[in-house]
Amino acid sequence: MADYKIPKLNGEGYVEIPEVREDTMQGNGPFIAKPDFQEAMHFPTDFAMSAEGGRFELVPDWKNRALEKLDDLRHRYRSLQVYLDICVKCGACTDKCHYFIGTQDAKNMPVARQDLLRKVYRRYFTFAGKYFPKLVGAVDLTEELLEDWYNYYHQCSQCRRCSVFCPYGIDTAEISMAAREILNHIGRGQKYCNEIVGKVFKIGNNLGLPEMALADTLEGLEEDVEEDNGIKVRFPLDEVGAEVLLVTPSADFFAEPHVDGLIGYAKVFHEAGISWTLSSYASEAANFGMFIGSYENMRRLALRIREAAIKLKVKRIVFGECGHAWRVAYSFLNTLAGPFDFLDQRYPVPQHILEVTWGLIQDGKLKLDKSQNDDMVLTFHDSCNVARGSRMGNKPGGQFEIPRNVIKAVCNHFIDMPADTIHEATYCCGGGGGLLTDDLMDLRIKGAQPRMEALRYVTEQKGVTHMATICAICKSQFTRVIPYYGFSMDQIVSVHQLVSNALVLQRQVSVQARL
Ligand code: SF4
Ligand code: SF4
Repeated sequence: MADYKIPKLNGEGYVEIPEVREDTMQGNGPFIAKPDFQEAMHFPTDFAMSAEGGRFELVPDWKNRALEKLDDLRHRYRSLQVYLDICVKCGACTDKCHYFIGTQDAKNMPVARQDLLRKVYRRYFTFAGKYFPKLVGAVDLTEELLEDWYNYYHQCSQCRRCSVFCPYGIDTAEISMAAREILNHIGRGQKYCNEIVGKVFKIGNNLGLPEMALADTLEGLEEDVEEDNGIKVRFPLDEVGAEVLLVTPSADFFAEPHVDGLIGYAKVFHEAGISWTLSSYASEAANFGMFIGSYENMRRLALRIREAAIKLKVKRIVFGECGHAWRVAYSFLNTLAGPFDFLDQRYPVPQHILEVTWGLIQDGKLKLDKSQNDDMVLTFHDSCNVARGSRMGNKPGGQFEIPRNVIKAVCNHFIDMPADTIHEATYCCGGGGGLLTDDLMDLRIKGAQPRMEALRYVTEQKGVTHMATICAICKSQFTRVIPYYGFSMDQIVSVHQLVSNALVLQRQVSVQARL
């Protein structure tokens, strides 16, 4: 493991608010997207590597272009202008961000992060800021400030925890998305996010896994499951006429513990007699267009799912375990790519795999042997975008209840982490919002601190051995950072991995598409 300074945990189950320090995370930010990556996103490409070769230049006339974009966004999204106008500096959000807690950097306090954009907005778009800038903290947009934008808006995972505690509900995530959208228009796109979105447009998924490789992977999974269970559970690809189109994060195809979740979904469909298929064209649930605040790219990604559903003539769209994908699906899919009037309206459009599984459990359609998970004492990490950006089921709080209901239906031992770290107060894993990249490893380790604190407490005091989660980013982030805190990677599990362990397969043959 590389050498990082690891924040100390107290093991008492509460988060200690650190002393504020200046500029502990001052820097250049993550790797910048080169013009090639910007092209696929329809962002400007008229910038190049500097003559010294160290860093990309900004686009010509960058300042006017940044301000034009800010003007455009504040008119397009009323919420953005309201958020920039209404902060009263009460300070309620200051200690609520995991990145502030982990780094101590004053600019990682949510209100300070917002102010990086707010002070420019005030300078150019408010009467007081134009004529009395010092009185209202308004400042000119300079290259130095722009570097702070790039750096600190990529130290926000857009988790929305701060907004839960703000008396006005100011959503720093939206401000952070707007800042990234502006940056993308002046030659400061982020390599990690933009390269990934480009891969989806070109190949169909974040990983750049082509159709043949995907088909091979699924065939391999069928063989593995048959070897383990003696029953052929199908993993269909591009099957026209299947009832369900499963859209899942591409990490589910091979990463651990994600793939164990995919095996769980397949077993659930098999046992319930539901025909289903994956799509090689829409082989990705993730929608990084949201992270970069780009409505246009978010829509282009969402439309691929609609096109796949029409082509495959499915009746339902079901999403696998992915936090931000579910937020985009639940909160925006109908607006971005609807109407979905060609689907079976008796089911939610779209539906989460946990809603499917919980419905089947309630209807007695799945035979479960909970003792298969008796080697584990589970806790559950609520993923930010599910907890604070969506719902499940038909009542408020379903997004907290349904995953726990499913875990309790398939496991005998479940213990929640402390109340101020779960449900709507959950802490981000530290790698969300487009920050799951190696060039931000130091930030990711520090940002995981509050969740690690809560996990340490339940492992030491309550005997918890494993933490389940329903987000591909959380799974990847935790398996990577928890060794730095003295845990082991295999302590992170998919919820459908637990379902898979407990599910007793009785049906001999999977139901196939009927067309
Ligand atoms: S949205 Fe999350 S990461 Fe961003 S400032 Fe708020 S608490 Fe921090
Ligand atoms: S809690 Fe809300 S109003 Fe108070 S400082 Fe933070 S953003 Fe501003």
